[in-house]
Amino acid sequence: MTSMTRSPNDPMRVIVIGGGAAGMMAAIAAADAGAEVTLFERNDRVGKKLRITGKGRCNVTNDCDLNEFLTNVPTNPRFLYTALARFSTADTKEFFEAEGVALKTERGKRVFPVSDRAGDIVSAMERACLNRGVHIVHKKVQNMLVENGSVLGVTTADGDVYADSVIVCTGGKSYSMTGSDGDGYRFAKAAGHTVTLLGPSLVPLVAEGNLCASMQGLSLKNVNLRVIEVATGKAVFEDFGEMLFTHFGLTGPLVLSASAHLLDIMPGKYEVRIDLKPALDEKTLDNRILADFEKYRNRDLINALDDLLPQKMIAPFVDLCCIDPRKKVHSVTREERERMVHTLKAMTVPIRGFRPLNEAIVTRGGVAVKEIQPKTMRSKLVSGLYFAGEIIDVDAYTGGFNLQIAFSTAVLAGTSAAYGE
Ligand SMILES: Cc1cc2nc3c(=O)[nH]c(=O)nc-3n(C[C@H](O)[C@H](O)[C@H](O)COP(=O)(O)OP(=O)(O)OC[C@H]3O[C@@H](n4cnc5c(N)ncnc54)[C@H](O)[C@@H]3O)c2cc1C
Repeated sequence: MTSMTRSPNDPMRVIVIGGGAAGMMAAIAAADAGAEVTLFERNDRVGKKLRITGKGRCNVTNDCDLNEFLTNVPTNPRFLYTALARFSTADTKEFFEAEGVALKTERGKRVFPVSDRAGDIVSAMERACLNRGVHIVHKKVQNMLVENGSVLGVTTADGDVYADSVIVCTGGKSYSMTGSDGDGYRFAKAAGHTVTLLGPSLVPLVAEGNLCASMQGLSLKNVNLRVIEVATGKAVFEDFGEMLFTHFGLTGPLVLSASAHLLDIMPGKYEVRIDLKPALDEKTLDNRILADFEKYRNRDLINALDDLLPQKMIAPFVDLCCIDPRKKVHSVTREERERMVHTLKAMTVPIRGFRPLNEAIVTRGGVAVKEIQPKTMRSKLVSGLYFAGEIIDVDAYTGGFNLQIAFSTAVLAGTSAAYGE
């Protein structure tokens, strides 16, 4: 058991709760600044969530400048200004390359390890911790010790451990099997902090009706997806890329990104419109259909669309167009063709809501930023207490922004904790 007080000449003792992206980076920064660091991770391995990021490839940051970065943070971007200026996306790249992980930049300035292995990012961070003498303890923290407005340490099943500072890096509340099940929010609340309403962001969308279920498993590349607010007819999101139909609705990169733009979601509020042929205008598309009809002159409509659509989509598509699937193509009317063109350019899926928080890539909400000092990540309420990573009420779009937020807030928290700032 550690003692409650430190001799003046001894290094600062810093406890980090959570061995994820933020926790390991905070431990590294605190150790670099001369602190004696103990990191508690409840799993028997660090970085469990990190290992599944970017579909196992880990989109570790985004190679953009600070201003562009902040446009990708819908919640509390200004709070992050100092953290991102102090430890930038370039610093993240430099850190990993110095730790022996070669990086590459892909479409949308997304940065990945050349190996395409998220495990390489985790190993580099764990190695960096161990090389700096960070003591990694695989134990769950049960509570934080807070007395008279100061943090004293943490409690584990083996007893109390004392420190000069504690950095809470327990992550959000999604994919809880990775270890981030919301413990940190409990610690923060017990210490007097406000935790804003938690919800999912970057999450699949549940659709009304059974259109999506009828195309379950079908993935589309190179489509244009718009989300329309039904009441105003305004597009609140539009982008080009990949998506997937599932038994409940829609998922895939485009859909996850779209979800971060939907506020106060409720049945009937939004609909998704998918342009299945974004490269073709309506006239060209109509000519294309006519050419297919000529080619398959004597076939039923249902058997004449193989060149136009993926097999799984043909029957639902014809149904959406309200055309008899057994109609011979030569008798399909101009109005019916117009409906086909319209459906190809704007296949409409009414949205009922989000999938549950546990299926979200990030948690929206968290420890209120007005109670955290943005220049240090120090609590404004409890001395010696710091926060970093997803536990804070910030979240960003896809593209490596969320991990960068974890790293930047962690470096600030780790350094400040080590210097007692
Ligand atoms: C499927 C998926 C893919 C993603 N892909 C990307 C991507 O490619 N790029 C990107 O930028 N972001 C991505 N994200 C988001 C990103 O992973 C998170 O924003 C980031 O991991 C947050 O880091 P963190 O350290 O705050 O939390 P976490 O990485 O969740 O780490 C928290 C750690 O704290 C530990 N912990 C919790 N409670 C306790 C306790 N009581 N005691 C001890 N330990 C505890 C947990 O076990 C966990 O290891 C993805 C998320 C998911 C779910």
